[in-house]
Amino acid sequence: MKIPFNKPYLTGGEMEYILDAVRGGKISGNGIYTEKCHDFFCSKYGFPKTLLTTSCTDALEMCSLLLNISHGDEVIVPAFTFVSSANAFVLRGANIKFADSYPDNPNINPAEIERLISDNTRAIVVVHYAGVACDMDAILEISKKYNIPVIEDAAQAINSFYKGTPLGSLGALSTFSFHETKNIISGEGGMLVVNDSTLSSRAEIIWEKGTNRTAMKRGDVDKYGWVDVGSSFLPSEIIAAFLLAQLENLEDIQARRIEIWNQYNSAFKDLKQSGNVRLPEVPDYATNNGHLFYLVCENENVRNRLIVHLKNKGILAVFHYLSLNQSPYYLNHFEKEELKNSESFERNLIRLPLFYELSQKDQNLIIDETHAFFD
Ligand SMILES: *Cc1c(COP(=O)(O)O)cnc(C)c1O
Repeated sequence: MKIPFNKPYLTGGEMEYILDAVRGGKISGNGIYTEKCHDFFCSKYGFPKTLLTTSCTDALEMCSLLLNISHGDEVIVPAFTFVSSANAFVLRGANIKFADSYPDNPNINPAEIERLISDNTRAIVVVHYAGVACDMDAILEISKKYNIPVIEDAAQAINSFYKGTPLGSLGALSTFSFHETKNIISGEGGMLVVNDSTLSSRAEIIWEKGTNRTAMKRGDVDKYGWVDVGSSFLPSEIIAAFLLAQLENLEDIQARRIEIWNQYNSAFKDLKQSGNVRLPEVPDYATNNGHLFYLVCENENVRNRLIVHLKNKGILAVFHYLSLNQSPYYLNHFEKEELKNSESFERNLIRLPLFYELSQKDQNLIIDETHAFFD
């Protein structure tokens, strides 16, 4: 492939920090680099409590443990998302109730949440698809009305905002991903944000294998032991060192990604006008963080032919997601429910290459070849 779909970007500082961490003689988790990453997020976005994890998947599993999700509980999750948004709760025995997207925006439709609420609902998961905020006022109102906590799966939503408030600070709990396909990366990596202060000390315990080691480290207790359930959710200092170098270049990374996004968006205005494709919607209350750029084609056949056309020109474009209500696992365990909008995004959406080092020349080629296809 001449133009890959994604290419992990190294800012240049990663190796230096990793060497420093290694030479410092402490490379297990919760050390200096982890603290520096926590401080970065708390000071930049005002998050009250952050815990680096080895993935967003792990952070979601921590949410499930923190909310004591157990057999028979129901969790509302959008169908148009990555597996982990649902799987983390299934692991604890929850029944997943899948919510549909809007017709013109892949995000969860709040009306769907209300439709699915029952006496057994224990959590509402929302996903800011492409880093574009969900309608959080409407969602938080439902959360308050029924007293059900909201978890923001903000895996794609770093440095994005809802009415000026950073995504990740609105739910009781929020999760981020630093997987190599995201804007800020550490190979595998993630983070839990604890906004509900009543959950923060238990979050530390679950994070450190069910022990109160973090409290001891802080000097709150003089020895540590097994006090609750937990697992090993914390990343090593090697990963945190890598991540810190990325975070220090966040503004630069964001600026370039948004520039690429904007160029795609204006280049395809004509295809939108001619009715060939729909472009991403960014509502007034949301920002665009340049995480991903997609086109929505008229139908699956056109979408698939566009993927093949681009592939023949050496450009890797991909589809995204397979709507979870139609996944083999779900169909084997739960009753099938039709979710028209999510299924339509599954069929018609195509993601174009978007990464920091995508050259202007390559982006022009992608734009030209997409136009050539529709001509
Ligand atoms: C990437 C992603 C995840 C999984 O993140 P990992 O860090 O790979 O576990 C979960 N949810 C959404 C919406 C994602 O985009």
